[in-house]
Amino acid sequence: MLTIVCDACKKAIPGPEKQTGVIYILDKALCKSCEKKLLTNVSDEMEKHDKFIFSDYQDQYIATVNRMCK
Ligand SMILES: [Zn+2]
Repeated sequence: MLTIVCDACKKAIPGPEKQTGVIYILDKALCKSCEKKLLTNVSDEMEKHDKFIFSDYQDQYIATVNRMCK
């Protein structure tokens, strides 16, 4: 059986949750709790910006994914 491991916390994602508990971002797989952390990190970063620019958000999102999935 294929085991999916979260790229951020390196924990295996258990069977039934593979359907609903895995979020694929870029070439990574994240579990639900790491996705929450990711979104929190990204919005914290975005609050430091004066205005919301979507391309900034995308850059931040990708940078944060890559930082969490080392
Ligand atoms: Zn995780």
